[in-house]
Amino acid sequence: PLTDLTPDQLAERLTALRADYAALQAKGLKLDLTRGKPGADQLDLSDGLLGLPTSTKDRAGTDVRNYGGLDGLVELREIFADLLGVDVAQVVAGGNSSLTMMYQVVSWLLSHGGPDSPRPWSQEETVKFICPVPGYDRHFTMLAELGIEMVTVPMHADGPDVPAVRALVEDPSVKGMWLVPTYANPTGAVCSTEVAAELMAMPTAAPDFRILWDNAYAVHHLTDVETKSADALALASASGHPNRPIMFASTSKITFAGAGVAVIAASPENKEWYLKRLSFASIGPDKINQLRHVEFFGDADGVRAHMRKHRDLIAPKFAAVQDALTSRLDGLGIATWSKPTGGYFVDLDVLDGTATRVVQLAKEAGIALTPAGSAFPHGNDPDDRNIRLAPTFPVLAEVEAAMAGVAVCAELAATEKLAGA
Ligand code: PMP
Repeated sequence: PLTDLTPDQLAERLTALRADYAALQAKGLKLDLTRGKPGADQLDLSDGLLGLPTSTKDRAGTDVRNYGGLDGLVELREIFADLLGVDVAQVVAGGNSSLTMMYQVVSWLLSHGGPDSPRPWSQEETVKFICPVPGYDRHFTMLAELGIEMVTVPMHADGPDVPAVRALVEDPSVKGMWLVPTYANPTGAVCSTEVAAELMAMPTAAPDFRILWDNAYAVHHLTDVETKSADALALASASGHPNRPIMFASTSKITFAGAGVAVIAASPENKEWYLKRLSFASIGPDKINQLRHVEFFGDADGVRAHMRKHRDLIAPKFAAVQDALTSRLDGLGIATWSKPTGGYFVDLDVLDGTATRVVQLAKEAGIALTPAGSAFPHGNDPDDRNIRLAPTFPVLAEVEAAMAGVAVCAELAATEKLAGA
């Protein structure tokens, strides 16, 4: 371990690392590991969509070129119901972005309140959300934008820290919570059925407490173990809180990012509430795009088969991240990282107090990383140690080059710190 070295040994190591870093800079790299975007080869998998739909009518014979059908095509809702393990009646298929649907839900809770709210959330003195950290930066920036306070709990390998959540929900101003239950962004954690059951059953001071169950990576397996998500809606209704969870998903990282289909799934009361609010904002979704997706996949197994093609393209990139980190950093005692079995990210914890420095060193060597702290509310990682790595977009050789560089930067920053340099 680096932490065991004497000051002289550290100084020697620092000299060697500075030479490695200079060699890295001399390569003149221009690489980007910042956002979890599909690679071009992944997008090619869905090019069949561009010639679809061949029909202009849905199963019921309705002309999809016209207005109407606010809750989306039933045949598409059936596919999502199967993938998400919910009832088709619980699903609304909408537009191209689940993030937009989350924004609608939070906005409408603020402006109108939910079906079980004593008053609109905006009329409360303060509204707080529980944010498992590290988490998805856009969840946090959305809440900041809408004036909702954020309180954090640790995210473990099996989901959020339940005792911490239980303590927070005793406060009636805590109205909601984010959760990416499967292959979480960025840790890859999978919420266990036990944790999900506790979250759905626990008493909360707010009668209208919501868990925004963002299952963005429900079918995004990286191995042949196709982990099933906890059955949030059924667990919630079995424990007497049917309205607590609202589930979101989309095909953004299944077909085309930004041109897919997004869905929500919720209790009958929540679904009616959502559609009521939506009816003032939309005359119906893009049914042509929905039908295109139905024709392209056929059924839920069509989606699963398609996801295996994604897996074959991106699993080598995730393996390259592991190889680079292991070969340089294993045993040094200055970094730990996730080994996700699905999703889009690897979560790297470097030596406390050095994440900002690592990101800066990488930048100066031509490797763009997500800013340190991004996975925390207001960008504030109290330990300055967390870095989210997104290896899907660059080609494999670039992932290898970038990650070899990141490992040098992590070791250099740690050695500088330990040497007091
Ligand atoms: N939720 C999570 C957890 C995500 O990682 C992402 C995409 N990066 C989204 C939502 C965005 O989904 P959409 O494209 O459907 O808006």
